[in-house]
Amino acid sequence: MMPLREWLKPPRTLLAILFLVTLVSVSALGWLGWKLLDQERAVEAQRAHERLEQAADRAAALVRGALAETGERLGTWLIVPPQKGKPDEGLLLLVADGSLSALPRRRLLYHPAMPFAPDDPANAFADAEVLEFQQALPALAIEAYRRLADSKNAAIRAGAMIRLARVLRKANRTEEARAAYLRVASEARTSLATGAAGGEVATAPVGGVPAGLIAQHALSELSGLSTDAEALKKDLTEGRWPLTKGQFEYYWSEAGRLTGMATPPPADAAAFSNVVAQSWKQISQEESPRGQNTVWIADHPWFLIWRSVPGRKAVLVTRPESLLGAIHGTGDVLGAALDGEGRVVAGGRSQTGYAAVRTPAETHLPWTLYMTSAQSVNEAGMLSRQRFLLLAVALMVSFLIAGAYFIARAIRGDLAVARMQSDFVSAVSHEFRSPLTSIRQLSELLAFDRVPNESRRQVYYDTLLRESTRLQRLVEGLLNFGRMEAGVRRYRFEQLDTAALVARVAAEFEPQATASGRRIQMDGCEEHCTIHADPEAMSVALRNLVDNALKYAPDCPTIEVQWGVERSRVSISVRDHGPGIPASEKRAIFRKFVRGSAAEAANVKGSGVGLAMVQHIVAAHGGGVTLASEPGAGSVFTILLPLGARQT
Ligand code: ADP
Repeated sequence: MMPLREWLKPPRTLLAILFLVTLVSVSALGWLGWKLLDQERAVEAQRAHERLEQAADRAAALVRGALAETGERLGTWLIVPPQKGKPDEGLLLLVADGSLSALPRRRLLYHPAMPFAPDDPANAFADAEVLEFQQALPALAIEAYRRLADSKNAAIRAGAMIRLARVLRKANRTEEARAAYLRVASEARTSLATGAAGGEVATAPVGGVPAGLIAQHALSELSGLSTDAEALKKDLTEGRWPLTKGQFEYYWSEAGRLTGMATPPPADAAAFSNVVAQSWKQISQEESPRGQNTVWIADHPWFLIWRSVPGRKAVLVTRPESLLGAIHGTGDVLGAALDGEGRVVAGGRSQTGYAAVRTPAETHLPWTLYMTSAQSVNEAGMLSRQRFLLLAVALMVSFLIAGAYFIARAIRGDLAVARMQSDFVSAVSHEFRSPLTSIRQLSELLAFDRVPNESRRQVYYDTLLRESTRLQRLVEGLLNFGRMEAGVRRYRFEQLDTAALVARVAAEFEPQATASGRRIQMDGCEEHCTIHADPEAMSVALRNLVDNALKYAPDCPTIEVQWGVERSRVSISVRDHGPGIPASEKRAIFRKFVRGSAAEAANVKGSGVGLAMVQHIVAAHGGGVTLASEPGAGSVFTILLPLGARQT
């Protein structure tokens, strides 16, 4: 990453434009993504609404179907009562000719009103009761009751037997009393089981209470056996006797007392019985041949539906859920049925969000149907789509930012190269200018014969020679570098003595070093240190290193050139005690046109191609260049070359 201050350097306008374009593009992308998300949400909400509307239509159709079917079944039951134990969904009341029957019987614990009131033929027992109570002649009373117990009239027979048992009980003739009760009970049981006419004895009321029940109760009291009491309880829970509420409660508590365990009556049957008791008036007064109604009993909704033909009426009492099961939608759809006052009859609904409503006017149902959704939109699907969209937008934004970054970097890089090239041109021109100026001035002096004496002339000739050689070396150096860069430079390898090579190059710099009061110190093995190299190219490389040491360490009196053999490689190092090279520049200075801080500090002109050339040449010889340097402690450039023959 480039540091921030690098970015703030010119070309600022170009970078600012790029930054702005990127910013605008990223914002546009973000806005687009957000818009898309918004649209997606709206579409999803629309889809959810449609789903609810469809669910509402489906629910309305299903409920209508269920209601019609129930009505039809009721119509059938009106003529042919359902099988025993049916219907499953509720309590069916069949009212015919003033008598009420409940199906299944166990759902009605007591009757709302005694639908029948057969005469208790009390008159028949008047004489016997006079004997029993007023004259206190139990034996005669027993006689009288026994006679009546053989009557053809079931009611008289039942009344006589119950009274007979009573007198016998009072007279402590318990066994006989039990026998009398048993007769009533068994007559009742067999008759009820077979449907024979003797059933009248069982249900015949004695003092308003069915004789069978009185007998059963008395028997369990007499025997003290819990099995008898259990049988009594079972009869009560199965709704065997047509009882009033008060009678049921009394005998239920009696059964509890006799079993030694007071339990509440079955909740389901108690609820149905209560509903029938409370709405009986309405049911019995209803004149229309068909109808339905929702009633609220103890904060619970109940549904009544009836069909009638003259003299017969069938009423079904159910919980609304049994008919409204279809409103429970699938998935997150919540269905609810509300009555005219807005009370929830069945199901449930969400208070927030969209609701599909079907009014009774539309559906011809007795309720308003509400379809709502637990979630406002399909959260899971929405979330995954949102995530995908966000990811796509984030990816595009990242690409955009990365693209902009690389473009900016490329611009900076190209600019840096352009700057380096222009620096190079100006540096090279400068290098050319000083020898050219002195050549021109000296040639002028010589041409116009303005030389004072012969020795001076010789000095001028020497200077001319030196300057033109320098110029030639400069041009050749650049040409060499150009060839090297183009890859067309040819090397002529030969066996070369390292000591001789170093001595030759050092000798070239001797006059320059001596002139500035410095010296080049050489140190290395004299023998067996041969390299296989191009003498000209290797001289150029070494020359560059020595030249740099002299240029960048002007205050350092000695430049050391050392050579030797190191792990089967020949090393030639040039050491100075100059300013050194910072770590950050160590790699860069080997690149072409790159000039370091030392060049700037010493105000030394140069082209920045010297070290690049050194590296090029050494690499072509199969070797490498290393640099060890500490700022302030000088630098050591080392050329490492393979020892031994090498052919190209
Ligand atoms: P030039 O000398 O023309 O600048 P070079 O490629 O020879 O090109 O050197 C690149 C840079 O390396 C120089 O500008 C200088 O900053 C640094 N450098 C080279 N040799 C030395 C040295 N002996 N001491 C300090 N810095 C050096």
